[in-house]
Amino acid sequence: MSAISSIDFLIVGAGFSGLVTAERLSNAGFCCVVIDQRDHLGGNAYDCYDEAGVLIHPYGPHYFRTNSQRIIDYLSRFTEWHPVEYEIKSFTRDQYWSFPINLNTFEEWLGRSSTEEEWSAWLEETKVAIDHPQNSEEVIVSQVGWELYRTFFEPYTLKQWKLHPRELQASVCGRIPIRLNRDNRYVTDTFQALPANGYTAMFQSMVDQSPGIEVKLSTSFAEAQKQYSYKHLIFTGPIDTYFDHCFGALPYRSLRFERESYQASELTAREEISGKKGHWQPAMQVNYPDLDVPYTRTVEIKHATGQKIAATTVIREFPDDWSPSKEPFYPIPTNESSELYARYRALADQEQHVSFIGRLGTYRYYNMDQVTGMALTEAEKLIKRYSR
Ligand SMILES: Cc1cc2nc3c(=O)[nH]c(=O)nc-3n(C[C@H](O)[C@H](O)[C@H](O)COP(=O)(O)OP(=O)(O)OC[C@H]3O[C@@H](n4cnc5c(N)ncnc54)[C@H](O)[C@@H]3O)c2cc1C
Repeated sequence: MSAISSIDFLIVGAGFSGLVTAERLSNAGFCCVVIDQRDHLGGNAYDCYDEAGVLIHPYGPHYFRTNSQRIIDYLSRFTEWHPVEYEIKSFTRDQYWSFPINLNTFEEWLGRSSTEEEWSAWLEETKVAIDHPQNSEEVIVSQVGWELYRTFFEPYTLKQWKLHPRELQASVCGRIPIRLNRDNRYVTDTFQALPANGYTAMFQSMVDQSPGIEVKLSTSFAEAQKQYSYKHLIFTGPIDTYFDHCFGALPYRSLRFERESYQASELTAREEISGKKGHWQPAMQVNYPDLDVPYTRTVEIKHATGQKIAATTVIREFPDDWSPSKEPFYPIPTNESSELYARYRALADQEQHVSFIGRLGTYRYYNMDQVTGMALTEAEKLIKRYSR
């Protein structure tokens, strides 16, 4: 039997949350071991080159954006950036639509040109008067009315979550903006860019610049507990697994991905649709709201990475029921799951030497900049506490 090693911090999870805390703590002089049950760095933000040589996001597209200079400054120590304006489209009724909904979408809806005044007046007349929307259906119909809701939101949400928008908290569909202007960008954050050489290269640089970090991949928490004694644990895995599901499993939605690569010769015929040489579809992401299409979106990340390569790869994303053998992709934001999480949170608050952070540790969908911020704050707190 091998001897137990004594370290300062054991960090479960090599995604944004785990690696950012590890980098900060190790550069403050602490000895950190980061483990991950997967065989790569980066958690869900991991990217890699596929057989066609295309840089892909195998766990779903990760569009980095933020309004926080603190986060940009921090991550820029480990990467250069490739600026992008993320654009997506929706495909239904046999045509591509501008999305999120804006004046361009309204013109496509009318089949003629229009103005902000007409669009605004149409919305005023069409939207349903609801003062305090309580769920995802109400939040959308109170902005655009029933017809646009039933075309772009209701079937898509049903497919994605296997729940009716009425059963989902307002924040789920409320994240998607409705715009009066012609802004076709997916998000409006001031900084929108991808790490120039990809996320995995950025994470590798974080590890390389941190001599106090040891990374052990393909290692589960259970295995690591047998190998290390530690002063403090940072747990970025699912909070209910830490407590052996004592109150029952927190529900998740999973995803399944199908990948297809196309060579230059196959793309010529697509140019009329994609509008761009060497591309398959007209935007980096196309949403498919209709229920008779089994996937929710197709992603051609080459639009965003700007990779100079003749081939391209398209990934179709199928929503999937979650079970313990599948990846827990999205926490399900219902009132029941929030109550269940609160019970685990109460147990977590009693743990003196464990921090639960990240999207799985706090059972909440966070963007990458938000988890980076959470990890930086947690690391600062721990550095103060353990430097005494
Ligand atoms: C499909 C999808 C698309 C997304 N798109 C965007 C986007 O466009 N922009 C954006 O800002 N954010 C996006 N996100 C959110 C982004 O993925 C998260 O903000 C980020 O990955 C969270 O990092 P994390 O470290 O908290 O979790 P993760 O990246 O999930 O990392 C946790 C790691 O812990 C490991 N782990 C868990 N349990 C154990 C255990 N018991 N033992 C060992 N290892 C364990 C897991 O293997 C995993 O690698 C998206 C998320 C999903 C699911």
